[in-house]
Amino acid sequence: MDFRLSEEQEALRESVRDFAREVVAPTIAEHYEQHTFPYEIIRQMGKMGLFGLPFPEEHGGMGGDYFALCLALEELARVDSSVAITLEAAVSLGAMPIYRFGTDEQKAQWLPKLLSGEALAGFGLTEPGTGSDAGGTQTRAVLDGDEWVINGSKAFITNSGTDITALVTVTAVTGTKPDGSKELSTIIVPSGTPGFSVAPGYSKVGWTASDTHELTFDDCRVPAANLLGERGRGFAQFLRILDEGRIAIAALAVGLAQGCVDESVKYAKERQAFGRPIGAYQAIQFKVADMEMKAHTARLAYYDAAARMLAGEPFKRQAAIAKLHASTIAVDNAREATQIHGGYGFMNEYPVARFWRDSKILEIGEGTSEVQRMIIARDLGM
Ligand SMILES: Cc1cc2nc3c(=O)[nH]c(=O)nc-3n(C[C@H](O)[C@H](O)[C@H](O)COP(=O)(O)OP(=O)(O)OC[C@H]3O[C@@H](n4cnc5c(N)ncnc54)[C@H](O)[C@@H]3O)c2cc1C
Repeated sequence: MDFRLSEEQEALRESVRDFAREVVAPTIAEHYEQHTFPYEIIRQMGKMGLFGLPFPEEHGGMGGDYFALCLALEELARVDSSVAITLEAAVSLGAMPIYRFGTDEQKAQWLPKLLSGEALAGFGLTEPGTGSDAGGTQTRAVLDGDEWVINGSKAFITNSGTDITALVTVTAVTGTKPDGSKELSTIIVPSGTPGFSVAPGYSKVGWTASDTHELTFDDCRVPAANLLGERGRGFAQFLRILDEGRIAIAALAVGLAQGCVDESVKYAKERQAFGRPIGAYQAIQFKVADMEMKAHTARLAYYDAAARMLAGEPFKRQAAIAKLHASTIAVDNAREATQIHGGYGFMNEYPVARFWRDSKILEIGEGTSEVQRMIIARDLGM
């Protein structure tokens, strides 16, 4: 058992760390304040190959693996989570379904631009009336000749409305199974398709420099060939995508938790109270020590889940544990880092204020903490 990174992995971690500090850190606060999408940062991430990290070179990828993506996400989130979630959603929710389930034609059409970061894709599963209970999907797609006709709506879809969004994959009810349950399938809907409309961006508490919209499909017609993978396999497809995605969200949460440690150590050495730096007081040291412990153990949890996934072993339970633990400790660390910063921690100009606002969603997105507990308990035979 060896959790140390290879030279190649260390080099990737360092290059993303440098990029986050030199390119993301100086400009992201303004995007966050203005709620604008950081196109220039995303363009540079594309040039670095980050959107192609876990994909083979034959599709325009970097030939790395899912763990490489997680390392990059951790380093980005250590500085900013809007940028990290844009990458996470683009790769693990946007391009990955096409890579895993798409036909050769679909891969050839979409992957090169998605993997270069030139274009983004969204993943439309959640609906205004149903999130955790994804089986409750109401959006319908009916085959009419050689076209799917889609009607319904999707809520909170990341990367679905940027100037460079090329498509969303949408889960829809396409029929009824012999046992009476819904037949769910996944369909590719290119941006700009008539009948597909994107609402203005939500006003969010955090992740304000990332792109999130409600989508509506009103007699939206796409070619029958836009079906992603087999008809009726939609449920199995999104379960697989979400299992993997949980490891990536765990990595992102660890990054945020570690960023809280970084900022707290720096601030505690500088800030004076009662004639000494606050870091000289044991009460502050213990807070920081606990934060570091939490980030470290959550990191090991996602490393373990990723290692199992890459070895082709079952990893559902470990991915849920990693996501549950990492998101919980990210919220803890953000709260404590804000406390260490006192009143300044409540000011948006300090990164910890952003960390605090960005942490809560980690306990909700890609499966709430309650859903993670359900997955773990079910895997234990309960
Ligand atoms: C910023 C942002 C970006 C997002 N991006 C995407 C995206 O790109 N694509 C996408 O498809 N979705 C996306 N989502 C949606 C996200 O995945 C859902 O919000 C999440 O899965 C929860 O669903 P819900 O909001 O409908 O909550 P609900 O499912 O309504 O849950 C409400 C509460 O009830 C609890 N609950 C539900 N069922 C049970 C149960 N059986 N037992 C105990 N407790 C239960 C939940 O844990 C939660 O606390 C995004 C959300 C946000 C906020």
